[in-house]
Amino acid sequence: MSNLIFFGPPGAGKGTQAKKLVAQMDIPQISTGDILRAHRREGTALGKKAQEFMDQGLLVPDDLVIDMVDDRLGKADAQNGYVLDGFPRTVPQAVALDELLAKRGSSISRVLVLKVPDENIVARIVGRRMCKECGAVFHMEFSPPAVDGVCDSCGSSALYQRADDTEEKVRVRLTEYAHNTAPVAAYYAQRGIVREIDGVGDIDEVFSRLSAALED
Ligand code: AMP
Repeated sequence: MSNLIFFGPPGAGKGTQAKKLVAQMDIPQISTGDILRAHRREGTALGKKAQEFMDQGLLVPDDLVIDMVDDRLGKADAQNGYVLDGFPRTVPQAVALDELLAKRGSSISRVLVLKVPDENIVARIVGRRMCKECGAVFHMEFSPPAVDGVCDSCGSSALYQRADDTEEKVRVRLTEYAHNTAPVAAYYAQRGIVREIDGVGDIDEVFSRLSAALED
């Protein structure tokens, strides 16, 4: 079974690569950022609590995110594997994930770490645009939509820039990553399930490196 974690700094390409892989493997992409944004759009209590943290580029408190993931992993489509994208983001989240997987007689099979230097991250993030309707991700310069402002995947013209995709917020998110998230890779490294992938290059190039890392 493929219970995968996509790991790396904001803007490393986790979401983009996860979308390609799940299309091929027929397992769901579970992005805690996407789920939180959906809660905000729907105005749920969780969405309201998460809002202030997200807009500042800070991490949402662990307990909120862990309960949300527990719920998501219980859904029928996640019983044959999944790609976790943006979770776990702290060591306590990784410990909680182990516990909730153990409860289900399951475990993480591989952690794929996308390595992208900080100097590339800012350019990637500030040029990023997302589709409000289907979540497809574009980049104004590196992977623009075929028709300006229109989503290639669903045809909607609801492409937007995330409120936390500004240079100022990226710096905060990179600090959060360095302090809270980077140590999660070391947590899994002792198990021999971590593979590092060079995340610099075009989308297909990175995807073939990633596919090779899943084979070994
Ligand atoms: P992302 O879409 O993965 O870049 O996440 C966007 C924002 O959602 C982050 O900056 C956090 O505020 C919040 N978030 C997403 N996933 C997590 C997580 N696992 N733990 C805490 N906060 C998260």
